[in-house]
Amino acid sequence: MKQSDIAMVGLAVMGKNLALNMESKGYTVTVYNRPHPDRPSVVEHFINGRGKGKNFLGTESIPELVNSLSRPRKIMMMIKAGQPVDDVIEELLPYLSPEDVIIDGGNSDFHDTERRVREVESKGLYYIGTGVSGGELGALHGPSIMPGGSPEAWSLVRNVFQAIAVRLEDGSPCCEWIGRGGAGHFVKTVHNGIEYGDMQLIAESYALLKNWMGLNNEEMAAVFAEWNKGELNSYLIDIASQILRFKEEDGNYLLGKIRDVAGQKGTGKWAVATALDEDDPLTLITEAVYARMLSALYQERKLASDLYENAITLRNEFDKDELRQALYAAKIILYTQGFSLMQRASKRYGWDLDLGTIAKIWRNGCIIRSIFLQRITAAFREHPELENLLFDDFFFRKIQSSLAAWRKVVSEAIRGGVAIPAMSSGISYFDGLRTLSSPANLIQAQRDYFGAHTYERIDREPGVFFHTDWTGVGGDTTSGTYSV
Ligand code: NDP
Repeated sequence: MKQSDIAMVGLAVMGKNLALNMESKGYTVTVYNRPHPDRPSVVEHFINGRGKGKNFLGTESIPELVNSLSRPRKIMMMIKAGQPVDDVIEELLPYLSPEDVIIDGGNSDFHDTERRVREVESKGLYYIGTGVSGGELGALHGPSIMPGGSPEAWSLVRNVFQAIAVRLEDGSPCCEWIGRGGAGHFVKTVHNGIEYGDMQLIAESYALLKNWMGLNNEEMAAVFAEWNKGELNSYLIDIASQILRFKEEDGNYLLGKIRDVAGQKGTGKWAVATALDEDDPLTLITEAVYARMLSALYQERKLASDLYENAITLRNEFDKDELRQALYAAKIILYTQGFSLMQRASKRYGWDLDLGTIAKIWRNGCIIRSIFLQRITAAFREHPELENLLFDDFFFRKIQSSLAAWRKVVSEAIRGGVAIPAMSSGISYFDGLRTLSSPANLIQAQRDYFGAHTYERIDREPGVFFHTDWTGVGGDTTSGTYSV
């Protein structure tokens, strides 16, 4: 019997479509979904449905799945992240042989992936934790794929991964090796964080077009469509335009009927938590995550909107092009922060991330795909050690040319009472970064005043710490434990 090239565990939205994608590229795929006594077989349903007449082998048990594969075996899980991944690994391990590869394509926490790589490698096997982006259609027609884990496994899965990945205009696949350990899942986490930021900035622009300029759905759709023809060209701007135009069967627009409470599954929070761990100011994405939380406080929002009905002061006009420039400038900050986090974590975990390549594989297939990413690849190709995207010539010029419009839109929106947390936190990051003489000296003085935390002096060498008896009644003992 012909042995399969690869197995897919988990036949929900992603697993099913990725398996179909692999089969369409000439691979024979074993499929498996855990059986349920009280439910018809998911595997059978797939084999007799979308998989009918194709090169799939349906299996109903783990040993059957393992025996169907050519060696070294490649088994990909597309299942719910968390404990289920550990459970399936545990089920698989007794049946596998050295050099077999277990692949987790779900949205796993990269800390878990770091641990799983170690555990699986200790048994002589290989492990890959990979980000897969593009949703259902991407999985079927070509996602962006971000694999990391055991470096030895890359040559074993490279062909199939690059065959199913979407391609750029020059034919290169949106799938390259990211790095060892949890690097692939980490990069996917940052991708999702950036996705939160992009969506929040677009939502804020929508709020300004609607509530500030008073445009109707068709007019707003036309604005986004126009923006999509230029430097803001991206999947998310494109679908914003399509969503604004979408009508239900009764002829009414759907968007206005959707409750304004944003959901989240947690990857945005993970990006923020990682940034906190790395002491990295990921402010814009953090605001985007908080904005979703604030949207969920529906009852409180209702009370506050009545209570503070008139909390709006003067407002001056700005035009659509100024708003476009503000959105673009804030987007630069969003990506600056996301790439800065990757740079910092790369150093800490020894991943050696190639930031130019990461921007390249995000250029197609994934949710944040955009023309803009080309510029980021160019920036890191030119200066691989670039500390911050704002130091690149192109982005420097862009910020300079949009600064006046960005400041105007943010200040007017604040005066007019339209919440723009991401756009305004972006400008505060920018101003904070370009402020040479910051007020943090006062924070240091206060810390030393009340907690003897010590401070450095600008008239002495860095790294030498001083404590002052500010009140004349303090001692000369400095604090080594109490932290604020
Ligand atoms: P879900 O996240 O809804 O996961 C459902 C699948 O996980 C089913 O096959 C289910 O099997 C299986 N599963 C759940 N618990 C267990 C368990 N304890 N043991 C074995 N299998 C289990 O499916 P999706 O296809 O949406 O996503 C799969 C993965 O890909 C997730 O990690 C998700 O975060 C990630 N992802 C999803 C994207 C999307 O657009 N949906 C995009 C990119 C990544 P059963 O039918 O038996 O319950």
